[in-house]
Amino acid sequence: MTYVFHRHTKANYPVAVAGDGPYVIDSTGKRYLDASGGAAVSCLGHSNRHVIEAIKAQLDKIPYAHTSFFTNEPTEQLARHLIERAPAGLNKVYFLSGGSEANETAMKVARQYFVEKGEPQRRHFIARNQSYHGNTLGALAVGGNPGRRELFQPLLINTTHIDPCYAYRHQRQDESIEAYSLRAADTLETAILELGPDSVIGFLAETVVGATLGAVPPTPGYFKRIREICDKYGVLLILDEVMSGMGRTGTLYACKQDGIAPDILTCAKGLGAGYQPIGACLVSGAIFDTIEQGSGFFHHGFTYIGHPTACAGALAVQQVIEQEGLLAKVRDKGSALTERLTHAFGQNPYVGDIRGRGYFQGIELVSDRDSKEPFDPALKIFAKIKAKAMEKGLMCYPGGGTVDGKKGDHVLLAPPFILEDSHLDELIEKLSASLSEVLRSEG
Ligand code: PLP
Repeated sequence: MTYVFHRHTKANYPVAVAGDGPYVIDSTGKRYLDASGGAAVSCLGHSNRHVIEAIKAQLDKIPYAHTSFFTNEPTEQLARHLIERAPAGLNKVYFLSGGSEANETAMKVARQYFVEKGEPQRRHFIARNQSYHGNTLGALAVGGNPGRRELFQPLLINTTHIDPCYAYRHQRQDESIEAYSLRAADTLETAILELGPDSVIGFLAETVVGATLGAVPPTPGYFKRIREICDKYGVLLILDEVMSGMGRTGTLYACKQDGIAPDILTCAKGLGAGYQPIGACLVSGAIFDTIEQGSGFFHHGFTYIGHPTACAGALAVQQVIEQEGLLAKVRDKGSALTERLTHAFGQNPYVGDIRGRGYFQGIELVSDRDSKEPFDPALKIFAKIKAKAMEKGLMCYPGGGTVDGKKGDHVLLAPPFILEDSHLDELIEKLSASLSEVLRSEG
């Protein structure tokens, strides 16, 4: 009997009782290799002593102090750490308790910026299909995951969605990747013009699309063109790096690899690595200055913003990433993971695409490689793979996003940055066995 309102109300979950590096251990002693960091969260694994000690030390000093009364040392230090490494122009941080809150904050600070700038007529957001920005109503409205939105549609603000940058599905046969990038990005300009350029607040996109599509990176030049279009019409570029940021792709900020800087950037999961719930919204100097020189007050806030213990934990996480050279490791081992996935699944008749950056990789499953036809959604392939992998002691994050209006299946891998070669062997072995057992019976 449980009194917990679990999301899957009928599921019978194992009880997690301990962590050991990249393993989660349940109450029966069974070990699970965490190849997805939960949901791309646990980038340092589950037992990092430096982070645990830093949290305990902060609890001994002061666990919590409300930001209407005080600032606190870990908040200030973490902000400095993030801003000193941030894309050019981002120079203030607002700390939240997770990714949805970070995106709500991004939307509200963007709106307030334009009101204070004297452009109150700007009220539209443009975002992308097959994206996920969170489950609160604002973040859900800009998100483009039909399954998550459907039930709440009447409550959502109107958002214009354009297609994501998704070369596997949308690049034409006779088209170069550069030409595809421009064509995909130019749909933003069309959407801005249709809405009326001076009515648009911002364009919101995941730098690398995570949960809904399964680690789909932008193609070369896509975000450069997006940046140009945003600048042309004074539209803010808001990048959601809740999943892809904080080193997961091999650079602290994923957009560094695209050579652009957004006006607002959100991050969360890997920021605190699951040791504490935390998210962040980084904003440009132009946005902050407009509000500071205007009303001087941001009309937004939560009880736990700038939480000292959460910030102390996240600061320790970021120190470990830097001191242990984990970004270089993610780049290096990420390439090794891509090679191993390609070797193991590249010829599999049900694997349509293998893609990603660093330790953020996705495998898209199809019923037919030539036509790229997804599996019948009723088969719930992704759920069966998750269950089979758990049986074998492997956590991976399969998803059933939509592929051009139809359900599609993918497996998302987002392992802790500390994974060694032996763990990669175990990951590939267990994933291969899980995929082949499920697909053999369903394919
Ligand atoms: N944005 C992206 C890209 C995400 O992947 C997620 C969560 O999966 C969120 C926002 C929402 O974050 P949270 O669940 O911490 O509210």
